[in-house]
Amino acid sequence: MAKVAFIGLGVMGYPMAGYLASRGGHDVTVYNRTSIKAEQWVDQNGGTLAATPSDAAKDAQMVFACVGNDEDLRQVTTGPDGAFQSMESGSIFIDHTTASAQVARELGAAAEAGGFGFLDAPVSGGQAGAKNGALTVMVGGEQDVFDRARPAIDCFAKQVGLMGPVGAGQLTKMVNQICIAGLLQGLSEGIAFAKNAGLDVEAVIEVISKGAAQSWQMENRWKTMDAGAFDFGFAVDWMRKDLSIVLGEANSNGSLLPVTALIDQFYAEVQKNGGNRMDTSSLITRLT
Ligand code: NAP
Repeated sequence: MAKVAFIGLGVMGYPMAGYLASRGGHDVTVYNRTSIKAEQWVDQNGGTLAATPSDAAKDAQMVFACVGNDEDLRQVTTGPDGAFQSMESGSIFIDHTTASAQVARELGAAAEAGGFGFLDAPVSGGQAGAKNGALTVMVGGEQDVFDRARPAIDCFAKQVGLMGPVGAGQLTKMVNQICIAGLLQGLSEGIAFAKNAGLDVEAVIEVISKGAAQSWQMENRWKTMDAGAFDFGFAVDWMRKDLSIVLGEANSNGSLLPVTALIDQFYAEVQKNGGNRMDTSSLITRLT
């Protein structure tokens, strides 16, 4: 059992922090910008409420964060009242935000200068993965820092991997998003085509999901895509944020991502049509 802190009790952070208390038995201090969520969390899980990220990090052996984007992350770490003001020497900051590799390296260097560890540890598995404590966690950082943090991360994860030095977790998450973007467009086109061809979509999926076309998206999303329901987790706004990080990184490392760049523009169309909060399978709305 350790004294830990969690910053950012959103869709993902709220249940992740909960598992640190319930599965890990850790003594958890929470901070959330909108304090009512943190009050609710403490009512449900016990633990302590902090007024600022800096207060939350005081005396904590590990500090976890899951906020929105690079700028949010800078605010809760190196900003005024940020956690880095009070991190203990030898403690570890573990960031679960999907952010750029650049901000990870920047914060990794600041942590090193302050005498504490830093891991960039973005997650996949969505809202359901967080609720069920079954996330995939892609980590960048030093082996010994990873080894010390791993038992706590295991509280909300089913798969955890150290991918390389600081930044490698974010780079791995970018690969994840590249793979998902093109696949969802393919699935959208397949379902739309099946409908236009007068096929029974359920019967089609039943057969092809046992073959080479099978995917997690096919198994978990075909039915809701077919029904035109798009309230199942990861939102288009978040995906566009992630794809902009991906395309920026591709520009600097020389990767060619023609399909990913096109899908990003398709998502921009979905946003323009009011689909900002729809889940990422809403790509099919452009076709039906
Ligand atoms: P969310 O529900 O919008 O929660 C974001 C959290 O960050 C909230 O607690 C918010 O506080 C806090 N926050 C944002 N900006 C802040 C700032 N400047 N200062 C202090 N706190 C700030 O988002 P989420 O769905 O949990 O996603 C969090 C991260 O996980 C994102 O990077 C996202 O891309 C990634 N992710 C999400 C999913 C998913 O399915 N949702 C899956 C994988 C990865 P308030 O309560 O005050 O707004």
